[in-house]
Amino acid sequence: MERERRRVVIIGGGVAGSLLAKSIQFNSDLTLIDEKEYFEIPWARWRAMVDPSFGERSVINHRDYLTNGRIVASSAIDITETEVLTAEGRLIPYDYLVIATGHTDSVPKTRTEMLNQYQTECEKINSARSILIVGGGPTGVELAGEIAVDFPDKLLTLVHNGPRLMEFIGIKAASKALNWLTSKKVEVKLGESVILNDDDEDNANGVKLFQTSRGESVKADCHFLCTGRPVASSWLRRTLLKSNLDKRGRLMVNENLRVKNRNNVFAIGDITDIPEIKQGYLAQKHALVAAKNLKLIMDGEKESKLEKYEPRTPKAVMVSLGRKEAVAQFSFTTVSGSVPGMVKSKDLFVGRTRKKLGLQPNATLID
Ligand SMILES: Cc1cc2nc3c(=O)[nH]c(=O)nc-3n(C[C@H](O)[C@H](O)[C@H](O)COP(=O)(O)OP(=O)(O)OC[C@H]3O[C@@H](n4cnc5c(N)ncnc54)[C@H](O)[C@@H]3O)c2cc1C
Repeated sequence: MERERRRVVIIGGGVAGSLLAKSIQFNSDLTLIDEKEYFEIPWARWRAMVDPSFGERSVINHRDYLTNGRIVASSAIDITETEVLTAEGRLIPYDYLVIATGHTDSVPKTRTEMLNQYQTECEKINSARSILIVGGGPTGVELAGEIAVDFPDKLLTLVHNGPRLMEFIGIKAASKALNWLTSKKVEVKLGESVILNDDDEDNANGVKLFQTSRGESVKADCHFLCTGRPVASSWLRRTLLKSNLDKRGRLMVNENLRVKNRNNVFAIGDITDIPEIKQGYLAQKHALVAAKNLKLIMDGEKESKLEKYEPRTPKAVMVSLGRKEAVAQFSFTTVSGSVPGMVKSKDLFVGRTRKKLGLQPNATLID
């Protein structure tokens, strides 16, 4: 006789939560709670903004890969020892809980709305003469690359408060990216920040003046914020997991990816305090370790059999520069141009990510 399946609840259907859900759906009585009905591949967002058809493969309804589990499209707002409470007032019981809420983001609830949003952003870019990008980390650089290649006639300014672009990678890679942007006529201002006000809406009828910390003015018809987002853990401060958060709001986990001192609660992805850079491909590795450990525990295996997660230093970091080029930093060298571009920039790993979720890499099924 089949053993009763244990109730697993995953909160957050992003990079880590979606892969975990897909991996354990036939081994558990599974519920995925996510604020939205779909998974968006985050690193494909900028391409989808300059080419909305790209979003048809990178925005995936949870139901497409999760055929054997419940999906609750709502925010989790509280946790007790046995249940999760959602914003809509539903109580969802669990035997095992996984927190995978990553970083905060403000995106629409349905896939159709998300695709429409890309369309709106694309029209905004198309009708602007001048565009300001605030933030010169990898996301700001990648967005500048997409716009510079697909809309070469735009006057593009990127303002970054640090002394160089992308401080998380080496000087060589940062200066290759800077040279590439400059060659595409992007004006890059380093060591200054844009003074932003709460009411900084783009002006529908024309140009706006943005002030910088150095007293300069930047004219732009529209602007995009590419500054860091906070960890999505403020809601956890009101729950029984509040004492498991570190000073930066990250959940403290042990080597098996269990939240410390909690046998039936795991955390994966950007929300964890694992000392490594916060990247999607590492979040996917967390998901696979958590999947293995949950299966072992639910099968009644010994604790000593659980897999340990070792924090990693990435072997390579790649930043795309438009559709064909990229800069790649390896431990032994840094290269830029069309060779790393062939690896990352053409498809932005969208086919590969879809495949991991058991989907056709190239399908473009619309709702
Ligand atoms: C523009 C951009 C480009 C990037 N480029 C790369 C790259 O090239 N390579 C790379 O490896 N990484 C990249 N990253 C980083 C990567 O996307 C993250 O490391 C990864 O998404 C982390 O996965 P996660 O599952 O922890 O969180 P997320 O993917 O952020 O998912 C969190 C999920 O939780 C949901 N959620 C949040 N709060 C709640 C709540 N209270 N209740 C219910 N649901 C909730 C959210 O809606 C979301 O679905 C990029 C990120 C961005 C934004």
